[in-house]
Amino acid sequence: RLEIRNLVRHFSGRAVVDDVSLSIQAGQVTCLLGPSGCGKSTTLRIIAGVEMQDSGEIYVDGTLICDTHFRVPPERREIGLMFQDFALFPHLSVGDNVAFGLKGSKEAKRARVEELLARVDLLRFIDGFPHQLSGGEQQRVALARSLAPKPRIMLMDEPFSGLDNRLRDGIRDETLSLLKEEDTAVLLVTHEPEEAMRMADEIALMRGGKIVQQGAPYNVYTRPVDHAAVAFFSDTN
Ligand code: ATP
Ligand code: MG
Repeated sequence: RLEIRNLVRHFSGRAVVDDVSLSIQAGQVTCLLGPSGCGKSTTLRIIAGVEMQDSGEIYVDGTLICDTHFRVPPERREIGLMFQDFALFPHLSVGDNVAFGLKGSKEAKRARVEELLARVDLLRFIDGFPHQLSGGEQQRVALARSLAPKPRIMLMDEPFSGLDNRLRDGIRDETLSLLKEEDTAVLLVTHEPEEAMRMADEIALMRGGKIVQQGAPYNVYTRPVDHAAVAFFSDTN
């Protein structure tokens, strides 16, 4: 379970993240949805620990991992990351890419890598290299890699935006079922209402650094909080 309370971050005197609070349960997908520049990625980077907040706290399973005085380093947060430029290591095999963040015996690592590659239907490529895979296949390897260490929390920043429409739906569904199976708490950033409607258990609508509306996708869609929300949902960018 991920909980963030009253996060604030300024850049050049402007509140880019302005009092954002969110709570995400295990097995739940929350979509942070909003227009370009509203502060989605900054929020995610603060939770990941690669950006610092001015104020506010972050808790994982009830334990404080970050406030203004205390900070668990990013690599010890047990938070998985998947960003748009998921960049596999080109010089490592597919299997070694997935094994990259894993600890433990060689056998245990191998078993986990095989389990995940089988799950994304790419086990046959385990000894292949990233350049031998299509974009969609690379994306599935990146997904397997970020899930391999069993993060309790997964942060995803527009992870499907590099894919063509045909591939995207399949990979979205696959990703979702894998995350549910692993009982991961997911915060997914997107500026596409359609993606949020398809993937979210809960949508947090963000604008100008603030969460202006939050709720089940159907409710957010059918009862928009104001005219700007209507416009955002009807805009087919
Ligand atoms: P997009 O959908 O385009 O990815 P976003 O919602 O992810 O947008 P952010 O990347 O969080 O937006 O940026 C929010 C605002 O903060 C932008 O106006 C951006 O220019 C500004 N910003 C982000 N990082 C920095 C930084 N390191 N220094 C100064 N300004 C920044
Ligand atoms: Mg962004």
